[in-house]
Amino acid sequence: MSTPIRQQYLDLRKRYPGTILFFRLGDFYETFDDDAKLVAEELQITLTSKPMGKDLRVPLAGVPYHAIDQHVAKLVARGYRVAICEQLADPSEVKGLVPRDVVRIVTAGTVTSEASLEAGRPNYLGAFVRRGRDAALALADVTTGEVRVIPGEDALLEAGRSPLAELLLEDLADAPALPLPVVQRPLLSDLAVEAELARQFGEHAQAGLLPGPAAAAAVAHLLIYLRETYPAALGAIQRVRAEGPESGLLVDERTLRNLDVFPAPGKTASLLAVIDRSRTAMGTRLLRHWLSHPLRDREALEARFDAVAWAMGRPIERERAQAVLRGMPDLARLAGKVGARSATPRDLAALRDGLRAVFDLGARLPAAELPPLLAEAVSAFSGAAEPLAALDAALAEDPPASFDEGGVIRPGFSPEIDSLHALTRDARSFLLGLERQERERTGIKSLKVGHNKVFGYYIEVSAANAALVPPHYQRRQTLVGAERYVTEELKEYESRLIGARDRLVELERQAFAALLESLAAGLPGLQAVAEGVAKVDVILGLAETAAERGYTRPAFTAGELDIRAGRHPVVEAAVGTGRFVPNDCVLGGDTQILVITGPNMSGKSTFLRQVALIALLAQAGSFVPAAEARLPLFDRIFSRIGAQDDLAAGQSTFMVEMVETAQILHRATPSSLVILDEVGRGTSTYDGMAIARAVIEFLHNRKEGAALTLFATHYHELTALEGVLPRVRNAHVAVREEGGEVVFEHRVVPGAADRSYGIHVARLAGLPHAVINRAEHLLSEFEAQRQPGASSPALPANGRVAPEAFQPALFAAVSPIEEELAGLDVDGMTPIEAIQKLYELRARA
Ligand code: ADP
Repeated sequence: MSTPIRQQYLDLRKRYPGTILFFRLGDFYETFDDDAKLVAEELQITLTSKPMGKDLRVPLAGVPYHAIDQHVAKLVARGYRVAICEQLADPSEVKGLVPRDVVRIVTAGTVTSEASLEAGRPNYLGAFVRRGRDAALALADVTTGEVRVIPGEDALLEAGRSPLAELLLEDLADAPALPLPVVQRPLLSDLAVEAELARQFGEHAQAGLLPGPAAAAAVAHLLIYLRETYPAALGAIQRVRAEGPESGLLVDERTLRNLDVFPAPGKTASLLAVIDRSRTAMGTRLLRHWLSHPLRDREALEARFDAVAWAMGRPIERERAQAVLRGMPDLARLAGKVGARSATPRDLAALRDGLRAVFDLGARLPAAELPPLLAEAVSAFSGAAEPLAALDAALAEDPPASFDEGGVIRPGFSPEIDSLHALTRDARSFLLGLERQERERTGIKSLKVGHNKVFGYYIEVSAANAALVPPHYQRRQTLVGAERYVTEELKEYESRLIGARDRLVELERQAFAALLESLAAGLPGLQAVAEGVAKVDVILGLAETAAERGYTRPAFTAGELDIRAGRHPVVEAAVGTGRFVPNDCVLGGDTQILVITGPNMSGKSTFLRQVALIALLAQAGSFVPAAEARLPLFDRIFSRIGAQDDLAAGQSTFMVEMVETAQILHRATPSSLVILDEVGRGTSTYDGMAIARAVIEFLHNRKEGAALTLFATHYHELTALEGVLPRVRNAHVAVREEGGEVVFEHRVVPGAADRSYGIHVARLAGLPHAVINRAEHLLSEFEAQRQPGASSPALPANGRVAPEAFQPALFAAVSPIEEELAGLDVDGMTPIEAIQKLYELRARA
């Protein structure tokens, strides 16, 4: 026979499969049976056992209630789902079994405790759905109530751009190749979707605004999942923001990583860390969003530039406003707690102080002068007035952490609360008075009035004085060396006091709940205030960065890219301003593809990334690290850089390299920016060179036009393409010798690098003269073999791939060209000449 409580536990355990169940028992959250063994192992806490019926002991591991957040955070971070079972009534007020139920299932996408969250980073629960040819991803951040929808097949790219913690799918085949908890969900019917949206947003309210059936279904999945795991979160969800990927500059997750846009484990520097001067976590989250979702909308970008420019020109106003921002709490997450009705008195006090600061902030920004973007942000501040008035009226200035002692509600708000509060406050002086009075009456100097949980108020007298106690004292408890008594007077006082305190707590809780409800009713206003503050914070921060680091306002062009004295923002910050060598970059017109050569460590990668980062910053709305920058509005930025990171994932470096390159070749458009670093490096020299060359040719010869491309390589042979492909140009990174040492100048200059550079370095490294001489001799031989007319080159300048690939074209040629073809001495040509001829022929075809 198990105890009733064991039965209660087993019933709940059955209802929540796939979770670890934490069962509230008094001051502990307990786990039993297999859960207990697992938790003891994972959290390194003691496994014990507990009797739960006749002849029944069950394994048990528990954590104190106040430590639950950090333990749950650990388990969730390791991929577990944790069900939290609470006591639904005060055990002291219930006869028999305390009612209990699971109030929440904590999952990676629905965590809200600070132990699991990063302040400057949202935490998204996602749902990806297909409906016919329509597809969409919906994202919810339960800490703020934000919901976004990204329609389209490419929406899953978003999974890498936004900090996605958990993904719901109807079809597991859609799971992206990311280390991400994925939950399979049942297929939803259109009717179910409609019902779910109506339930959350009201009839007609939202469904029509969503961009298609897949988007609606994805949002419905989020809502249903939240109802199952964390229903309170639904209270914070007011609306859905639909975004189109086509409206922005798409930067995939890999490129964000390659460019070190965001901090990553094991890396110290990032673009975000360099440019983020936000004073609030809201600002940091918004800046993150701007960087991961750059725009293509010129007007919107100019508005951001206008705002940044304005704030740059007003350093004093900026600093005064930033001083207010520095003390601002996280209004967005506080608003989220209001929506979930989980805000505590201290949370609301923080919200109130924050709203007061919002007005201060508004007052420090000269309304009449503000550029439109800032004016709009500041105009949302008016939404702070109503909630602030409600908070000011009801909430105590400095409320306690709990309701137990009263004092949450402001004096003057309710006469009844005030009088009860006065009564309980007087208790201390009453008890002191009683103590004095009894000491005098009995003559026992050491007599004390005290209180404990079990016996309530008592009068304590040492054993030695027990004989002096008057007869109306009733003994309650005997201790070593002391006796405790009560009197009628004390008992009566105690019951009055307890009654008053209970009533006070009850009334304060009611008043607080009403306050919370009234704030929740105005939630959209609060959320708009938080957004406005975040926007002001980001703009002022970007202005500060621009002023401090000498960034300039970029301009957008119809197609060319022209960066003068550009710098890599992160490397510049690392090597120190002034020590970074700025470089120009001009692309467009005749220079569609720039092939950059130079020895290792000369600065090729840095140059590539700096161009991409400047483009990204410009389309995020930031000023850029350059003396002058004119750029097109790119649709996508692609990158192929290093593959070390992916080695851990089990794929071979070269395979990863090729997969990524293939994706770029398929997706790049004439409006894209492509940076390719050392493509082909992962295989043998000839293979690598052949592939690298074929990739450049493919990008160059696209019918629609080439994407602007920067291609860094150590294959010197590729520089020959400048003469062959009309829109390819060479550049190299300059190096010079100084006192017998190689000096990297980090200067990017036109033309191909000196090919004997390697031998040069070998000499400096002290290789024997004989070796150096022999190498120089061999080099000149190879070079000679590359000259036109030379037969059977020992080192073909290009791989075997290109000539073979062009073979079919040879035989398919039409008559005028056919003749010329027949007359060609193919065997006597180098592959380069062959290709050159081919291009020439094709141009005439
Ligand atoms: P590569 O790709 O040619 O091997 P990197 O771009 O990785 O070379 O650059 C190597 C190092 O040189 C960088 O880590 C940086 O410290 C320094 N560097 C590169 N470019 C510059 C520059 N323009 N100014 C100053 N230092 C630079």
